[in-house]
Amino acid sequence: PLILGLESSCDDTAAAVLRGPGDAPELLSSVVSSQTDLHAAFGGVVPEIAARAHTEKLDLMVEEALDLAGVPLTDIDAIAVTSGPGLIGGVLAGVMAAKGLAMGLGKPLIGVNHLAGHALTPRLTDGVTFPYLMLLVSGGHCQFLRVDGPEAFSRLGGTIDDAPGEAFDKVARILGLPQPGGPSVEAAAKAGDPARFALPRPLMDRPGCDLSFSGLKTAVIRTRDQLTEAQGGLTEQDRADLCASFQAAVADVLAGKSERALSACDGLTAFAVAGGVAANQTLRARLTAVAEVAGVPFLAPPLRLCTDNAAMIAYAGLLAFEGGRVDDMTLSARPRWPLDRAAAPLIGSGK
Ligand code: ATP
Ligand code: FE
Repeated sequence: PLILGLESSCDDTAAAVLRGPGDAPELLSSVVSSQTDLHAAFGGVVPEIAARAHTEKLDLMVEEALDLAGVPLTDIDAIAVTSGPGLIGGVLAGVMAAKGLAMGLGKPLIGVNHLAGHALTPRLTDGVTFPYLMLLVSGGHCQFLRVDGPEAFSRLGGTIDDAPGEAFDKVARILGLPQPGGPSVEAAAKAGDPARFALPRPLMDRPGCDLSFSGLKTAVIRTRDQLTEAQGGLTEQDRADLCASFQAAVADVLAGKSERALSACDGLTAFAVAGGVAANQTLRARLTAVAEVAGVPFLAPPLRLCTDNAAMIAYAGLLAFEGGRVDDMTLSARPRWPLDRAAAPLIGSGK
């Protein structure tokens, strides 16, 4: 089947066309329009601006995705759309657009959990078989998921406060580096000494797979203030050392907790990451080593499929479609939607 996917839960408007079957998918197109510039002046995503921009861009993205795929709209067999979790205005914009398309075409509508999209990506890109362990590390999320099937996820733990991408962004702001913070902190850290500042390793002394990043950010503020008081400001080297020390702490904590999550699961076929923070080379190197010790391959999908996109939504929709699970016009947008067996239903309205 041919699936059209839509994504608009945060600050990216995206559409994609994917051809099934689920165990041999063919991604025909995937386009993303980022709103980064629109929100730059506000230091964060403004929900009202995001919702309006999604409404304006969705049609264009759908047209572009169909054009690139060389597929007429009438050939599409089902419309998959992120129906949560995310900023409610954006999710609503996507759900409304998808309902319009589904109704106009007389084709099924499938509401997809955004997190399920991320979690199933390694199956789309690498054909990995179940069960595998997924670490989702992005600007808005951080969690370990054991993926047992297209609709079977167990959450082993996650952040109790900030997401790591959010922490990178805040640290960049604290040190006067440009946004998005991840790439600029990573670049600055290259010239830095990761051992110069002894930053905390939050929750490492506690059992389980939960993580915390807000204390790390506070420690960076404290260090900056101490340096400023002692010497009137930060040198380029101070900044590099602080970035390197922060990055080392994040990588340490994520690697340590990954080790635990891996040893808590039996029979895994792989350890996979998704989310924008997975672009970080220091983190990748650490996670690769952890996977090697655990005896499973480490998988990192290409970055454009790691960050928010509609290909993953189309793919999760395709698997639901093949499983005979479709939604109807009562599909609603959900701002919160945990991805766990205990918190079913996992696809759309669950019908
Ligand atoms: P979500 O996907 O959770 O809805 P999002 O759109 O903010 O949120 P992504 O697009 O997956 O998340 O990733 C963006 C985040 O990744 C930003 O916080 C950014 O700073 C971070 N990031 C990007 N590149 C790097 C890097 N090289 N190192 C660390 N963090 C990075
Ligand atoms: Fe995301």
